Amino acid sequence: METWQKILAQSVVKPRDLAARLGVDEKEIEDIVGPYPMRITPTVLATIKEPGDAIWKQVVPDRAEMEDFDAPNDPLEEDLMSPVPHLVHRYPDRALLMVTNQCPIYCRFCTRKRLVGKPGFIKKGDLDKAVAYLREHTEVRDVILSGGDPLLLPDHLLEKVFKALRSIPHLEIVRIGSRVPGTLPQRITPQLCEIVKKYHPIYMNLHFNHPDELTPEVTAACGMLADAGIPLGAQTVLLKGVNDDPEIMKRLMHKLLLARVKPYYLYQADLTKGTNHFRTTVETGLEIIRALQGHTSGMAVPHFVIDAPGGGGKVPMLPGDYLVHMDEDGVVLNNYEHKTFRYPQPGNGHGPFDMAQGRRELPMAGAPASTPRGAHPRSSDCCEGSS
Ligand code: SF4
Repeated sequence: METWQKILAQSVVKPRDLAARLGVDEKEIEDIVGPYPMRITPTVLATIKEPGDAIWKQVVPDRAEMEDFDAPNDPLEEDLMSPVPHLVHRYPDRALLMVTNQCPIYCRFCTRKRLVGKPGFIKKGDLDKAVAYLREHTEVRDVILSGGDPLLLPDHLLEKVFKALRSIPHLEIVRIGSRVPGTLPQRITPQLCEIVKKYHPIYMNLHFNHPDELTPEVTAACGMLADAGIPLGAQTVLLKGVNDDPEIMKRLMHKLLLARVKPYYLYQADLTKGTNHFRTTVETGLEIIRALQGHTSGMAVPHFVIDAPGGGGKVPMLPGDYLVHMDEDGVVLNNYEHKTFRYPQPGNGHGPFDMAQGRRELPMAGAPASTPRGAHPRSSDCCEGSS
């Protein structure tokens, strides 16, 4: 057994042990962990500061999980989009390969609550079937390894999966979605990094929801992955009582960047059965984006998305008042300070937009469009994306 496997084995999985460590009601927890298993690694347990805090809420079973009767088990209809076992093919050029149902922790809000916790890793026969499907589907250029958590596969199995995927000539990118660096940082070993380096380009999207998760040990684990040449992104789920606050979210995004992890997605919580108590309004997410955009570096602003129920895929969400009006002459924009600017369309047959002379009135319905004195609408300059 490797060190990280021994540490994983010390995780809290039994209600009795959780009661002893955190003083919870053992009987109540027992009723919940039957259908929805629990695992809390020593790293995560050490991060809990007090009952009900942001880390506690993510990992300690809650009675509310059993009071959610109407929601679907599989709101994204992944099971219906699975042509062969373990593979989900929803988008045109990419597919999801679920290589295990094991995770370092069992997040109480997990979209795959119906699956996670079951033992074992993908069997050779199933991996062969998935690879055969991908080989036939030449339009798939990107495979996302997920689960469960792929980084819980022992090194030799993970390498088998990489090798099998890299035998597919048209496959360009392999991505890994993982919560391991933030919850079981001991798993990020030099040997693991050496294996990954052989199969580049491999990207990782790491799951983080609260700034307290970025401990020095976790940050160091992310640094090892970055040093192995793996571009790191972060996926965050918007969760009531955990991170539904602009200041907390800003601190999280800043700490991620310090750990060399680029914020990627902020997800509106899915409709999964047993997770309703984590859901926020959509406006909460929009307010968070509004509080980040322009107020801090664009590097720190994730894409806010709703994974549309019924298999609609990710739909980007932006506060609606940035674009006030658009027609063939130009657009009217609101910036992060709620100041209004205009940007002209090219070649609209009316000559260049006159910046100096005051602006042609753009026909628009009811929106004010005065450009503050001295504030010049930015046209095509060369620092796009530098903020
Ligand atoms: S680590 Fe990911 S897959 Fe596993 S329980 Fe948490 S959210 Fe679900």
